[in-house]
Amino acid sequence: QEQQHQPLFDLMQKAGDYFEKMLRSHEQRGKAVDYLKNRGLSGKAAKFFGIGYAPPGWDNLQNFLAANGERELIKQLISCGMLIEKEDGRTYDRFRDRIMFPIRDARGRYIAFGGRVLGDEKPKYLNSPETPIFQKGRELYGLYEARKIRQKLTRIVIVEGYMDVVALAEFGIHYAVATLGTATSEHHLRRLFKVVPEVIFCFDGDQAGRTAAARAMETVLPVLEDGVQARFLFLPDGEDPDTLVRQEGKDAFEQRLNQAVHLPEFLFEHLKEQVDFDTLDGKARLDQLAAPLINKLPKGMLRSLMRNKLRDELGADSVALDRLESSPPATAAVAEQAQYEE
Ligand code: ATP
Ligand code: MN
Ligand code: MN
Ligand code: MN
Repeated sequence: QEQQHQPLFDLMQKAGDYFEKMLRSHEQRGKAVDYLKNRGLSGKAAKFFGIGYAPPGWDNLQNFLAANGERELIKQLISCGMLIEKEDGRTYDRFRDRIMFPIRDARGRYIAFGGRVLGDEKPKYLNSPETPIFQKGRELYGLYEARKIRQKLTRIVIVEGYMDVVALAEFGIHYAVATLGTATSEHHLRRLFKVVPEVIFCFDGDQAGRTAAARAMETVLPVLEDGVQARFLFLPDGEDPDTLVRQEGKDAFEQRLNQAVHLPEFLFEHLKEQVDFDTLDGKARLDQLAAPLINKLPKGMLRSLMRNKLRDELGADSVALDRLESSPPATAAVAEQAQYEE
């Protein structure tokens, strides 16, 4: 079935090569190069990440890859999201006048692109749609590149954006990945924990970033087998990893990473912010909020310790935990897990 998609992989590779070539040779490359320079990107980093430029115009890529209007090629280009088909059957390039970030799978095959405008136009980023070779919930930008630098990684940082990954790498932090305009999925995390024992979430220092961190905390719970760790680095307001590493450099940024909050601490701190912890009814509410989260953890030492911690926080046994344990399993998956409950 992989075999059957080979023509799409080949076309995406050719598109990537084309965008790279345009960044070097198109008559309007100047503004793209200036943009990257202004953002502090070196030619070396641009090359390593295969960054390119989709020139302005509606049919550059189409003319390059299907010069004679070959019907089969055009169908394939639509299927991999590079061309958009109008109602009347005519087609045009999806990516125009944008900086192009190729997204490569674990084997380095080109499977999608992210494109950024050079100015303030909207949308700022345009990503490939889901295609037969690109599922957003599975792929991570930068993972292939990180492993190319170093096969044996010890930790991975999850950031929001392409430019965050590239900027961190530029400063020698070669172990950042980004989800592709979607939330971090359980699948992403299972994948990462096969590669490293420690994942650090480092989202933007804004409300969206904090909300994303809280969501990521819930998503990672079922994946946290004993022995792996999830941590959270919160950035100063208004900063993202790109802006911050440029301001303070590699060592200071890695210092922050070393001090990132561990999940158990974040979980309790985050929930305590939502209740009036100094009151008894606030504590009862904490119990209601914490118990279902703790129960998402796989059975093991971490879950036992979190249960103890909840008891210590409450100054009493958790009532909500007992209730969750005795309630009938909702799904087959839960039923299976319930067999292992004490
Ligand atoms: P830059 O530094 O280039 O301005 P950013 O990465 O800091 O961009 P954010 O606004 O923080 O941009 O968004 C984070 C990530 O979310 C982007 O890198 C991109 O992957 C995705 N994203 C942002 N805006 C859009 C959009 N309009 N459509 C799709 N994805 C988007
Ligand atoms: Mn943001
Ligand atoms: Mn940014
Ligand atoms: Mn950002």
